[in-house]
Amino acid sequence: MVFEAASVGTPEGDQAKSKKALKKEAKEAAKAAKKEEKKSQNASQLQEAENDYSAGKYGALPMIQSGDKISREFTHVKDLTKVLADQTVWIRGRLHTSRAKGKQCFAVIRQQQYSVQCLIAVSDTTSKAMVKFASNITKESIVDVEATVRIVNQSIESCSQKTVELHVIQLFTVSAAKSQLPLLIEDASRPVKDEDPEGLNIRVNQDTRLDNRVLDLRTPANQAIFRLEAGVCQLFRDILTEQGFVEIHTPKIISAASEGGANVFTVSYFKTSAYLAQSPQLYKQMAIAADFDKVFTVGAVFRAEDSNTHRHLTEFVGLDLEMAFKYHYHEVVDVIANSFTQIFKGLRDKFAAEIAAVSQQYPVEPFTFLDPPLRLDFATGVKMLREAGVEIGDEDDLSTPDEKLLGRLVKKTYDTDFYILDKYPLAVRPFYTMPDPKDNKKSNSYDMFMRGEEVLSGAQRIHDPEFLAERAKLHGVDLEKIKAYIDAFRFGCPPHAGGGIGMERVVMLYLGLDNIRKTSMFPRDPKRLTP
Ligand code: ATP
Repeated sequence: MVFEAASVGTPEGDQAKSKKALKKEAKEAAKAAKKEEKKSQNASQLQEAENDYSAGKYGALPMIQSGDKISREFTHVKDLTKVLADQTVWIRGRLHTSRAKGKQCFAVIRQQQYSVQCLIAVSDTTSKAMVKFASNITKESIVDVEATVRIVNQSIESCSQKTVELHVIQLFTVSAAKSQLPLLIEDASRPVKDEDPEGLNIRVNQDTRLDNRVLDLRTPANQAIFRLEAGVCQLFRDILTEQGFVEIHTPKIISAASEGGANVFTVSYFKTSAYLAQSPQLYKQMAIAADFDKVFTVGAVFRAEDSNTHRHLTEFVGLDLEMAFKYHYHEVVDVIANSFTQIFKGLRDKFAAEIAAVSQQYPVEPFTFLDPPLRLDFATGVKMLREAGVEIGDEDDLSTPDEKLLGRLVKKTYDTDFYILDKYPLAVRPFYTMPDPKDNKKSNSYDMFMRGEEVLSGAQRIHDPEFLAERAKLHGVDLEKIKAYIDAFRFGCPPHAGGGIGMERVVMLYLGLDNIRKTSMFPRDPKRLTP
């Protein structure tokens, strides 16, 4: 107010006032012009819409609530090849990328790990409005596309389908994605070693990936990893079933009495508490005592270990097996070893495309194995390590670096990424492991390794209740706590051996990946419980 009073009546004040007025006038004029422009734009849009000869051939579909049954044949993107040249197809996929350029829009539609280039161009049948609609669809939206398959002269390197592209006739969004994505599939799919062309070197870190796992899982490598993982389980089941094994299901909620207290998760169980099973071992053994002869199980295993490593999870999938044998536990070792060989062959033969897709993003040496597999005695492994300069006692367990080094030495000498280490020192194995009758410092136990990391641990188990109790006492185990376990063998039990395989580890190491979180769809570790 004071300022206003001081300026009134002075030449300076007059000047200021007219300046202000001029500014206001100019502003109003601009506003009016804009309004007029918008009016004519709206009018031309209206006119465009009225003349939109593509109307009805594009747009957002109403939410599919299963109101109508439409019988329409869809072609899978992976099947779009020269064979379909000039044919009209429908595909449903995600808008991977789009780029509008003048009167046309190039889009890439992705279906799982496959992608195809699409062209939406203004023509006699495609209106400007339809091209505009196409270029405004948000990335990752799900679309239905009707298009003609056309052969291209130049290979399309950015797509899995390189020899054809689609000329779009109709285009509808089925489910729109938010415009802001927490990560771009393009970035999350970038090969680890590649320089990115824009020089930004965008990579998506592991936590961002895992926090947004639904998006992250859409990358071609992840699509391949989890298809191959399903293959590992299927092969495990088929190969063992073929050999007369019976698939069993063991409880995951177990009583306090049957397991020790260490490394187990406690859950409340009505008025008392229970534990999550650390292994199905006791139940596999009971199935053997119950005459099932050969059993396997695929299921969740829980470990309350605060192990923040590249190969430990707090929940993983165990591929466990147990088998009665006649006279020597090597009867079982041979079955397990041969099953691994068959799994490796199955993966190599049936999952070549998936292996290739993963190695595009994470380059690795192909997995090598011998048929039959290599079996080394623990003592031989120790000798090899000593020759390489490692100081290790006869009855020491192998440290993780020792295991890795031995893996490299074995690979160099025998050219295999898979081998069996047999006859571990008795001192480093659990109380229920059968001692070696010829050398009381050794045991009838074994680990199996892929690329120098343990994937299976197994042994002949003690099936004699008195001997089992004696060994437990020696280990300082409270006999009261394992009464149910020991009692399982009181009614006669065949000699038996078995082992537990970590599914995620097998997939990680077969593919040469660096972290087990890459092979667990929704990993659980000491720091992660969601999603
Ligand atoms: P490690 O010495 O590597 O911790 P472990 O001796 O505890 O393994 P076992 O209890 O014998 O392993 O389990 C059998 C198999 O289960 C292992 O060979 C491995 O493949 C897998 N496994 C064990 N612990 C984990 C874990 N925390 N996360 C993922 N897989 C595991």
